[in-house]
Amino acid sequence: MSPEPAGPDHAAAPPPSPIVAGLLGRCPRCGKGSMFKNFLALADRCTVCGLDLTFADTGDGPAFFASFLGGFIVLGVGVWLQIAYEPDFWVYPVVFIPFGAVVCLGLIRLCKGVLVSLQYANKAGQGRFEP
Ligand SMILES: [Zn+2]
Repeated sequence: MSPEPAGPDHAAAPPPSPIVAGLLGRCPRCGKGSMFKNFLALADRCTVCGLDLTFADTGDGPAFFASFLGGFIVLGVGVWLQIAYEPDFWVYPVVFIPFGAVVCLGLIRLCKGVLVSLQYANKAGQGRFEP
């Protein structure tokens, strides 16, 4: 479950910040290759350094953080809209259902990238009993 050791070309390079690499969707070891093969699915390997990304298992973490943070953003904009303009009731579902979806989908990729990078940087994994 431990990440692969650094290759000879990447051993001397300082590791990228896990937060920056995760927010950019970059490889947590080299910071150059992409960790995603599409919008949300992780690539099997980094295309630059070859880091095996199959160790990453973020579970429900990205969804939790994205909905938690997205809820604050959407609620804040909703409160601001109500105070500033007092729109009719129908405006809220028409505006905030798509707005909430876009905000949460944008945040979930960022959260997944950060959690994978932090998992790599902290060598986090399942608990195991060592004999
Ligand atoms: Zn890499």
